Amino acid sequence: MDESRPALAVDIGGTKLAAGLVEPAGRVQAWAQVPTPAGLDAEQLWRTLDALITEVLDQAGVTPADLAGCGCGCGGPMEWPSGVVSPLNIPGWRGFPLRARLTERLGGITVRVHNDAICMVAAEHWRGAGRGRDNVLGMVVSTGVGGGLVLDGRLIRGASGNAGHIGHVVVDPETGPLCGCGGRGCAEAIARGPALVAWAQGEGWRPDQKDATAKDLAADGALGHAIGLAAMRRAGRALGIAIASATSLCDLEVVSVGGGLSQAGPLLFDPLEEALRAHAKLDFTRQVSVVPAALGQHAGLVGAAALIFAADRYWHGD
Ligand SMILES: [Zn+2]
Repeated sequence: MDESRPALAVDIGGTKLAAGLVEPAGRVQAWAQVPTPAGLDAEQLWRTLDALITEVLDQAGVTPADLAGCGCGCGGPMEWPSGVVSPLNIPGWRGFPLRARLTERLGGITVRVHNDAICMVAAEHWRGAGRGRDNVLGMVVSTGVGGGLVLDGRLIRGASGNAGHIGHVVVDPETGPLCGCGGRGCAEAIARGPALVAWAQGEGWRPDQKDATAKDLAADGALGHAIGLAAMRRAGRALGIAIASATSLCDLEVVSVGGGLSQAGPLLFDPLEEALRAHAKLDFTRQVSVVPAALGQHAGLVGAAALIFAADRYWHGD
C-alpha cells in the first residue's frame, strides 16, 4: 500500500453529515458538510451522503482507487462490526446497511464503520488531548453523553462493541431523572443538553428564544443568571461523579470532554472538577486530569480516519 494515500472520512450525526479526505498524519485536506436532512427516507438520505462523497472526491481530484480506505463514524446504535446502523437521531435509517453501501459505492475498498463517540475518542487519543497517554476516557456531552475507552493504548471493545458508555454510569439512583435507556439517574439523564433545559424550565427559566437549547442556558449562566449557573453546576457535578467512578474502575490518566456543552468552559469544568475531587480520594485516582477535547470541528473526521490509519489501536473487527 502506498503509505501517502489519504483516507475518506465520513461523519454522520443528527445535526450534520460531513466527509473529508484525511492524510495519514491526521490532517484534513478537502472536506464538505451539509445539515442532516429531516424527513427523508432511507434512499433519499443515502443519495445526500453519496453526493457529499462525490463532492469531496471531485474537490480533491481523486477516485476511490486512490484511497487507503474509508472510515465512518455514525450515531448509534449499530450492529458492529457489520455497520448496520439505526441512529437514534436519524429516523430514516433503521437497520440501514451503511458499511455495505459505502463499500459498494467505493468500489470494494476497505470500509470501517464505528460509533461516532468512539471515533471522537480515537481522534483525541490519536491526535488530540490524549496523545501519548495509554489510558484515556473520551466523552462527548451534547444531546446525549457518549464515550469511549482506551486502556493500555488500545480502544476497548467490550462484548458487543459498546464499552465506554460513560453516559449510563449511574450517579443519582434515588432522585435522578428517568433515563432514555430505561434506568434512573444516569449521568446522561442529568447532563444531556435537553435534560438540562427541561430541568431549568422546571426551576422557572424563561428564555427569550423559542426552542432554547443548553447553549442558551450556558450563555445565560455566563451572564450570571442563577438558573443557568445552577444548571451547569448540576451537569458538572453529575459528570464529575461519573468520572470519579470510571477512574477508580479503569485507572485513567486523562479524560477528554468534548461536545457542545463542553463549550461552556469553567461554568461546567469547575463544578465537574470539584465533584471529581470530592469523590476520587485514592492516590491513583487523584492523578487523573480532565481536559477539554483538543480537536475542534474535524474531530469526527480525524477519528474516522484513525479506523483506517491506526487500525491496530482502534479497530478490532473484521
Ligand atoms: Zn441511562
